[in-house]
Amino acid sequence: MAPAQPHDRVFNFSAGPGALPVPVLEEAARDALNYKGCGISVMELSHRSKEFTKIIEDAEADLRKLLEIPDNYRVLFLQGGASAQFAAIPLNLTASKETVVDYLVTGSWSKKAAEEAGKYATVNVVAKGDNKSIPDAGTWKVSPEAAYLHYCDNETIQGVEFLGEEISILLLLLFFFLFFFSPSGAGRGATPHRREEKRENLTPSNPSLPHPPPIPTSQTKHAGVPEVPEGTLLVADMSSNFCSKKVDVSRYGLIYAGAQKNIGPAGVTVVIVRDDLVGKARPETPAIFDYKVMEGSLYNTPPCWSIYICGLVFKHMLAAGGIDAVAAANAAKAAALYDAIDSSAGGFFVAPVDRSCRSRMNVPFVVPSKGEEAEKLFVAEAAKAGMKELKGHRSVGGMRASIYNSVPREGVDALIAFMKEFAEKNA
Ligand code: PMP
Repeated sequence: MAPAQPHDRVFNFSAGPGALPVPVLEEAARDALNYKGCGISVMELSHRSKEFTKIIEDAEADLRKLLEIPDNYRVLFLQGGASAQFAAIPLNLTASKETVVDYLVTGSWSKKAAEEAGKYATVNVVAKGDNKSIPDAGTWKVSPEAAYLHYCDNETIQGVEFLGEEISILLLLLFFFLFFFSPSGAGRGATPHRREEKRENLTPSNPSLPHPPPIPTSQTKHAGVPEVPEGTLLVADMSSNFCSKKVDVSRYGLIYAGAQKNIGPAGVTVVIVRDDLVGKARPETPAIFDYKVMEGSLYNTPPCWSIYICGLVFKHMLAAGGIDAVAAANAAKAAALYDAIDSSAGGFFVAPVDRSCRSRMNVPFVVPSKGEEAEKLFVAEAAKAGMKELKGHRSVGGMRASIYNSVPREGVDALIAFMKEFAEKNA
């Protein structure tokens, strides 16, 4: 049984809308009745009031601080979900239906984005993944004339993520450290044959060893920001890993993210767009999709409540140590969970995604030896034990634990303990 949580809450592993920080929900509950003593609920405030002006200005300022967004980028709080951006992006960044745009397809969401863009531009799919890995950058058919290259930084359904460069470099260093300075000294001066043995020993199926860092193969080299030719305008869907790790915003033309995974409730989508890309929308672009019209996010009534909650979440993150602290906690949670899967007795649980791109946010796993019945039982019993929303997406089945920023380490540890128990009982 998972440990009791405040307000009789349970651990929520939902893929979205996802968990929010309890202190944020507590503050929002107070402000829902009377916002900071003004006598009006935050939900009833005019979007032109001085109170809401401060809410939206603070939210933008705090997000800029969190992600170190350069001054030459606009931050927009829009409606329509990330799905609206699938259309808004080609409408704002292409001249006509004939303009070529590159789309990298690594899972369901980038596929959907490419399909929608096809209504407004000429889509070139640069590569299509197998839903378990990212095609090697050397195989991508990038078009030299493309207006931009769109990719999804974290595929929520499949659990395929472009892992941050900094993390990859750290893992690489860790690998070389373990390899060359391990107590057995097996790495240094070892013959190629012995090196192979050492690699085999590091596979997770050997339960006597800790979970290894990913071995640097050709598949790890493209982790992080996609390797694209100099001058390519990068557009990224970061809906399900937004604010979960450090991102070099200056490497992108545009980043967008629906709020409902890491930063707030559904209803608001953040668009971070470079200055020079604003003001170029095609004439037929609906006003509410036009980034120039939407500058300031107050062209029409914005999703006030959602923006307010995002603002509280940003403040909460800054107080908790900012993006580095959040990223470190996320990396540790994901490592613990993947380790529990990989080291499950007799390979009871399996994580299907290639180690080089295993999402730190959405962790899909299956029970290959027992199949669907056992997976259903797992989801049902976990819910009874205080861990909800562990069912995999309907299109892929199995289980999926979404361990967004606000899922506490305690929740991940409770899930790991439950998995061990379940594997023992149902082996
Ligand atoms: N992109 C990704 C990566 C997503 O996870 C989702 C929603 N799950 C979407 C786009 C679509 O977002 P929305 O429902 O906000 O339109």
